[in-house]
Amino acid sequence: MLQRDACLIINAGSSSLKFSVFLGSGKAELEAVINGQISGIGTEPRFLAKDASKRVLADQALEQSDRAALLGFLLRWIEREAEGVRLVAAGHRVVHGGTRFAAPVRLTPEVLAELEGLIPLAPLHQPHNLAAMKALAEVFPALPQVACFDTAFHQTQPWQSQTFAIPRELTEEGVRRYGFHGLSYEYIAQRLPQVAPELAEARVLVCHLGSGASLCAMRAGKSVDTSMGFTALDGVPMGTRPGSIDPGVLIYLMRQKGMGADEIERLLYHKSGLLGVSGISNDMRDLENSDAPAAAEALELFCHGVAKQGAALAGSMGGLDAVVFTAGVGENSTLVRSRVSEKLGWLGVTLDAAANRAKATRISAADSRIPVFVIPTDEERMIASHTLDTLAHGTARHALLAAE
Ligand code: AMP
Repeated sequence: MLQRDACLIINAGSSSLKFSVFLGSGKAELEAVINGQISGIGTEPRFLAKDASKRVLADQALEQSDRAALLGFLLRWIEREAEGVRLVAAGHRVVHGGTRFAAPVRLTPEVLAELEGLIPLAPLHQPHNLAAMKALAEVFPALPQVACFDTAFHQTQPWQSQTFAIPRELTEEGVRRYGFHGLSYEYIAQRLPQVAPELAEARVLVCHLGSGASLCAMRAGKSVDTSMGFTALDGVPMGTRPGSIDPGVLIYLMRQKGMGADEIERLLYHKSGLLGVSGISNDMRDLENSDAPAAAEALELFCHGVAKQGAALAGSMGGLDAVVFTAGVGENSTLVRSRVSEKLGWLGVTLDAAANRAKATRISAADSRIPVFVIPTDEERMIASHTLDTLAHGTARHALLAAE
């Protein structure tokens, strides 16, 4: 049977590992063929896989075992069940590339050691991303792996966007604004000129509104500022995170309530945001469907936060030429898009209500000074494309060295 090269994309979290498989060896022909996840890692692992038309290919409990064994199972399953697929590379979403990694990088023991050094900057995510890479190297040492970073896209920001007004020693030690969701923003930066070529050089506010949410000020396809900072806590309210909060609140919690770092971390990462304010859910759908006043308040706080940060970022760019909504809430919630746009009305944003309801690509009114778009993001495709590019250039460079 004809075999086609494919790339495995992995997004590893604390208890789950999301994956997708892309066929193709060039950017243009990347075709998503399978996606799924192993959930319940560490408790009751379960494997789910779907094809491109969302047909379930597998849904089964797995024996409890370590990550290496679970990844071994996944790779063998792909090679057995996915007809004609030959895995030639794995690409990983890695939350933190620090200041060193401004682009995706092929995994080597030295790179891995550097990435381990960044664990203190993202203790809740980085260890899981790295554990998946180490486990994969253990079971399939010959499979090339590439790390793609959520922070990398923001490295183009000017100094003043990346720096906190704190003593310089701390900044030099790495306490600075990194920004996240970079793979999503990079994908949008590539897609927008295809949708609206006249905006290739524009000042664009991209609203990545998912269970984690952030905004990016993009000029000519490059990040100039973003709402997330040192960690993924800053910026707009999220499913379970508060977004910007006066740091004095943390001192209050420590002094007056005797709370320690772990407790504060739980409060900020898991108990705040839409969930904390509504007391009902972290899922925007539940809030939209609820009659409870606290649900409406949570929704209002979210939209207020997005519009307020959006206006601040327009200031960072020295103006605004377009708005893009993306990710779970941005792509699906007619109500959130409409509320946020209303609040940005003074900047020249007016929606076409019918286009917004219909989830059209362009949802602004014909006479809106600022065009508004809904563009579905695709971080996995971005990682696949980076993985193949990185390996191709790596190979080309090796070939060049050999020829010299
Ligand atoms: P993401 O993190 O990008 O996968 O986004 C997930 C979030 O998108 C969910 O937690 C929901 O809050 C939100 N979401 C998904 N579908 C809808 C919808 N139809 N209406 C409102 N919110 C939605």
